[in-house]
Amino acid sequence: MRNDFAHLLEPLDLGFTTLRNRVLMGSMHTGLEEMPDGYARQAAFFAERARGETGLIITGGYGPNREGRLAPKSDYIAPDQDLEGHRQIVEAVHREGGKIALQLLHGGRYAHHGEIVSASAVPTRINPVVAREMTTDECYQTIEDFGTAAKLARQIGYDGVEIMGSEGYLLNQFTAQRVNQRKDEFGGTLENRLRLPVGAVSNAREKAGDDFIIVYRLSALDLVEGGNTLEDIITQAKAVEAAGATIINTGIGWHEARIPTIAHMVPRGAFTWAVKRIKPHVTIPLVYSNRVNNPQQADGIISEGVADMVSMARPLLADPDFMKKTREGRPEEINICIGCNQGCLDNAFTGKLTTCMVNPRACREVDLNYRPASTPKNFAVVGAGPGGLAFAATAAEQGHKVTLFEASDEIGGQFNLAKIIPGKEDYAETITYYGALLRKFNVDVKLNHTASAADLVDKGFDAVILATGITPRTPDIPGIDHPKVLSYLDVLAGGKPVGDKVAIIGAGGIGFDVAEYIMHPEGPGDPAHPDIARFNSEWGIDGDYAHAGGLSPEGMRMPCDKQVWLLQRKPHNKFGATLSKTRGWATFVEVMFRGVKMVGDVEYDMIDDAGLHIRAGGEPQTLDVDSIVVCAGQDSRRDLHDALVQAGMTVHLIGGADEARELDAVRAIEQASRLVATL
Ligand code: FAD
Ligand code: NAP
Ligand code: SF4
Repeated sequence: MRNDFAHLLEPLDLGFTTLRNRVLMGSMHTGLEEMPDGYARQAAFFAERARGETGLIITGGYGPNREGRLAPKSDYIAPDQDLEGHRQIVEAVHREGGKIALQLLHGGRYAHHGEIVSASAVPTRINPVVAREMTTDECYQTIEDFGTAAKLARQIGYDGVEIMGSEGYLLNQFTAQRVNQRKDEFGGTLENRLRLPVGAVSNAREKAGDDFIIVYRLSALDLVEGGNTLEDIITQAKAVEAAGATIINTGIGWHEARIPTIAHMVPRGAFTWAVKRIKPHVTIPLVYSNRVNNPQQADGIISEGVADMVSMARPLLADPDFMKKTREGRPEEINICIGCNQGCLDNAFTGKLTTCMVNPRACREVDLNYRPASTPKNFAVVGAGPGGLAFAATAAEQGHKVTLFEASDEIGGQFNLAKIIPGKEDYAETITYYGALLRKFNVDVKLNHTASAADLVDKGFDAVILATGITPRTPDIPGIDHPKVLSYLDVLAGGKPVGDKVAIIGAGGIGFDVAEYIMHPEGPGDPAHPDIARFNSEWGIDGDYAHAGGLSPEGMRMPCDKQVWLLQRKPHNKFGATLSKTRGWATFVEVMFRGVKMVGDVEYDMIDDAGLHIRAGGEPQTLDVDSIVVCAGQDSRRDLHDALVQAGMTVHLIGGADEARELDAVRAIEQASRLVATL
């Protein structure tokens, strides 16, 4: 497998002639757009990515008219709007030699305000407000609005626009009969349903001129009932090409689809088979997107003829220098996006500023910065989990001297457990990345070394960073010492087998992950050789693309040989409440489809040879199980703290050592990074 983009240097005649030609940065709504100093922050965010040699950047989505805006206060691109702030973004990117296109996204029935419109007034489960059906005149006006917005984008200095026709937004609502039930010339036949999207492209071409990039984001696979057929999509691709599109980007799945499309359980390149079918039918560059996270994979997608270009969005949140490191032959130093969604989409969907678990500087380019050490200090870091690794690597990069103690024989802490959960294999990438940085910046790593106070006091350290993580909690249940009982460490780290009937005590993130682990006896897969056929079969995707929307008539098939109970003391309706907002639903669906019995409102009475005795909702019952796996939360591990403080040392607690409650790797890494920023 090649590890560079050398063969991608061939120019696409789009006006830029380096390897940047073949990668575009996909659109992400980050929340910077709504901030008071949003233009300056977006300028810094995009400029950093352009400096990192990203070629064509696509901005977050802006409505082409007032109804199309996503939220009441979102900006839109129209003559009555003050668009001067956009110049800051454009100029900052151009100064760094990049190119940038403005995404024109009409939210249609996915927008969240009181004036939403769509092809027809068809409700969607993801918006309580039902959109009003657009009049025929409004359809024609919307075509004009796309054209006017493209012209304005050009006047501001953008190199192009991306017209958003996928993910179930307005244009997609017109193309698919799922939402388009119109009786006028914008509904009925495919030609009519394409009239608005194709009209938007041709109007943009007409108004913005010939030498302006127009990307059309085509829904390559709708993944919803009533979605388009492959034939419809090919017809659409040809029509937008004929209408003047420069590039066809692709999107997978409507937002209301019940199939995960970008979360960690989606195999890398999971939808290449769909995009590949479109490729022979268009002559302009076709772009593959979704779960591309490393240069080798991107290279393969292009060299295998799936597409001409790849789009990456989250990978460029995780590492703004992705392309530069690729060109310089340093792929192991790329901070790979692991598909967790925790820093990015979870934040975006809960109204918080987007960032990234593995790169807390993402979208904080203005206010989270590190200073090179003018007087290098000498730090001891205890614990090589995500928190300790982030501190050690970042501080050493600034020129500080760092010694890292790790009790086990490998770095990574709990990520070594996460990476063996089927679907979470990419978590290993974060460990690999930090390993490369530790070597590069000469961190003195002491493995198999449980640090004691004697290792740290009077050894010349200016400060000790305690990143010692957590200790699993053992609940006080009579019989907890029974041989049937295992901790999650026994199962995941110790490889102890479980029987065919298993009860899991505790339904937090680790309880769900242990359920996944038990239900997949084949263990973790190889992310470089993903089993896409299996993913398709499990989630009910028609890999032959013989059915509309790409849905298989057989539906979801998730077999499981084990009988698993997942238990919690909280009420039943709180199941999965602590999981990631934008991927937890898929974990929940998977666990449910595999037949796991989720029982809430549980009291644990005792454990004996007969099994686990509980009361669920007050009703006593005995779960006749072979194994009981305890996933009952964790407590901070900070046994060294007091001795070090008493010895007069400066001690910083980060990650689980600081606070075990609601700990996740986002917090551990961010805390470490913020500490480095104060040095
Ligand atoms: P840890 O990762 O716990 O690392 C602490 C390290 O310190 C350990 O390596 C330990 O050996 C070492 N240590 C302790 N004492 C000493 C000593 N005296 N001397 C030397 N070394 C010492 N989080 C998420 O955000 N998203 C997820 O999807 C996710 N999935 C998970 C799945 C599983 C199965 C598990 C177990 C955890 C998961 N987590 C997840 C939790 C996440 O891994 C933790 O929040 C994170 O690892 C905490 O980082 P940390 O640096 O504080 O500590
Ligand atoms: P957790 O999320 O706090 O869950 C602990 C579970 O144990 C809860 O279901 C809790 O529910 C139960 N529990 C707590 N005390 C108990 C007791 N004394 N007796 C019996 N049950 C008890 O912790 P975790 O699952 O160990 O996860 C640790 C951290 O890793 C979490 O903070 C999480 O964010 C992170 N993580 C995240 C993910 C993810 O997908 N985002 C995945 C894995 C881990 P009841 O109190 O209702 O019984
Ligand atoms: Fe990728 Fe997770 Fe970062 Fe989002 S938060 S960009 S999914 S690593």
